Amino acid sequence: MSEFSIIKQYFDAITEPHKYTLYGIGDDCAVSRVPAGCELVSCVDTLVAGRHFVVDADPYAIGHKAVAVNLSDLAAMGATPYAILLGLSLPKSMANYAFLSRFASGLANICNRFGVELIGGDTTRSDVLTISITALGFVPQAEAITRKGAQVGDMVFVSGEIGSASLALLHQSLGQKSALQHALDLPNPQVALGQKLLGFASSMIDISDGLGQDLGHILTASGVGASIELNKIPCHEALSGLPDDARWQHLINGGDDYELCFTLNQDNLMSFTRKYPSTLIYPIGYIHQELGLNLLVDEMPIKLQVAGYQHF
Ligand code: ADP
Ligand code: MG
Repeated sequence: MSEFSIIKQYFDAITEPHKYTLYGIGDDCAVSRVPAGCELVSCVDTLVAGRHFVVDADPYAIGHKAVAVNLSDLAAMGATPYAILLGLSLPKSMANYAFLSRFASGLANICNRFGVELIGGDTTRSDVLTISITALGFVPQAEAITRKGAQVGDMVFVSGEIGSASLALLHQSLGQKSALQHALDLPNPQVALGQKLLGFASSMIDISDGLGQDLGHILTASGVGASIELNKIPCHEALSGLPDDARWQHLINGGDDYELCFTLNQDNLMSFTRKYPSTLIYPIGYIHQELGLNLLVDEMPIKLQVAGYQHF
């Protein structure tokens, strides 16, 4: 199977064409318009077999997750996703229908669900399956939500349940079947919420390497500290039953959540709730001047090393 037949059979026209695309797959580059009044937001994330997913993972989930982690990054800026480029490094043993058709359908389904077009990429042979996706999105001029805007007095929120993927990963490593497998395999990027928070949130990040570490990035970038109440962090019932220490590890140092962590001041919280009365967000703590991250249980500090995911 040649590189060109792979592209033609599996990747050409698998997503809905976008009105901002002038030229997509088939030329040397894609050419796109940026909508009036918007700025271009871009990111890249790479998944390596054996490192980010097990070697025999379902190709559908691999395709889904490779896109989801990028859409989560765009969501964390408040951006509207527009398109992706797919860098695919493929072992010869996977250059077949069984792998490519499932991979492409996982990728196409999440793209079409979020109105994202595959506008280009690169296909090469490699010993290790490696998927590097570049994602592009748009944000209204000067409105992107960064990590550095948290202010003393802001409240800290998360968008949903934390720790599920981390518990699923533990189950998987023990060879157990997990009710939370979907959280690990098929994360749901919080794109709609990210956009709703434009003009309201003072800072935001997506949680990929652990809530403790990722909130720490907001604190460092903003030059502030925070206290969070561990019992306020929403989690699945499979975690509520765990011993405290184990649960806290999943909540603070687990990874792969792809939920959002963000800060809002009181005024913006009120206007946000008025504008989106049915949108659930979960307050877990507040920002203060004193640097560092304090982890509290019923207002009492607990000892827990914030480690998060370390790549090296
Ligand atoms: P070039 O050699 O000029 O880089 P290629 O032959 O690599 O071009 O790619 C031909 C076209 O197919 C380009 O438009 C490229 O963006 C697209 N393409 C290549 N690989 C992929 C892929 N994995 N997914 C989507 N589009 C791809
Ligand atoms: Mg090329």
